[in-house]
Amino acid sequence: MKAIVIDRPGEFALRTVADPRPGPREVIVRVDHCGVCGTDLHVVEGNFASTRYPLVPGHELAGEIVAVGPEVSAWKVGDRVVADPSFQCGLCRQCRLGQDNLCDHFGGTGLTLDGGCAEFVRVAQDKAFRVPDGMPAAWATLAEPLACALRGLDRLPRHAGSSYLVYGAGTMGLLLAQLAARGGASRVDVVDVHERRRADAKRFAADAAVASADELDRGAWDVVIDATGVPAAIADGLGRVVRGGTFLQFGVAPQDAAVTVSPARLAADEITILGSMGIRGTFGRALDLLARGDVIAADEMVTHQFPLDAYADALAAVRSGAGIKVQVTPSGVPAGKDGVA
Ligand SMILES: [Zn+2]
Ligand SMILES: [Zn+2]
Repeated sequence: MKAIVIDRPGEFALRTVADPRPGPREVIVRVDHCGVCGTDLHVVEGNFASTRYPLVPGHELAGEIVAVGPEVSAWKVGDRVVADPSFQCGLCRQCRLGQDNLCDHFGGTGLTLDGGCAEFVRVAQDKAFRVPDGMPAAWATLAEPLACALRGLDRLPRHAGSSYLVYGAGTMGLLLAQLAARGGASRVDVVDVHERRRADAKRFAADAAVASADELDRGAWDVVIDATGVPAAIADGLGRVVRGGTFLQFGVAPQDAAVTVSPARLAADEITILGSMGIRGTFGRALDLLARGDVIAADEMVTHQFPLDAYADALAAVRSGAGIKVQVTPSGVPAGKDGVA
């Protein structure tokens, strides 16, 4: 099969490699669509801590089952599935506590195991989820980032009528803003430095989308979410949490980034600071939400599709922030299918 292989940080090529064979409880999926995101930039550049090379990237994958292992009971050839890429060891203290997104040996398909930027990929049977009937295949890969966004919202106290301020209107910020808006927020405001992204935020969910929160005639918000990972944005956001409110760190910041907080204010104002990591029990719910069709603007979120041999162009599109969700189509689904130009 054809696959993108990262040989070492910064070096990748389209190669012909051996077709994967299913283990006893694994299925082989023909990859029709695979999302590309900021995490893939880290994987390619060698900034994703647990990655070992060579590696086939791609952790937002959907397609059709073409082979099943001898002990697979839940699936048959021809089923359309999307994969939860998370790997957990099941044995460490965190896994045994049911906190499997915090596994000591955290990894995943396209992160530490060969992923979906290939014609075929191995998926454990319990990590495959059925694509609902009628859902365009291109939407299904949104289940992975949406599952991460749901994990973030699961961390928050849920009070209808709360105000939200979201930093960042990339894929994740747009998903978080849509979930907050549809979940009973009194208002959702979004901060992003890019004009086009602000327009996306306004169209999908935001009451206001601004380059700086200073432009908004409002002192503080009940919930402030960072979906940028940029220290300056995080520091700004921490200062805009209302007394008794909550800050959620969702964006991935550089390992050595640091932000100053005021302990006096944390105590006096009873500010809660939370983090969110990956997916925990949210993948099926993400698919259910996508299947409704009117909660998440999936049809407008997939803006770019590239053939597998244009993987470098897909990465460049992510890096430039030109679109929202970027995909590769390893099985040669023609561009333009599923309403994508
Ligand atoms: Zn991703
Ligand atoms: Zn574990």
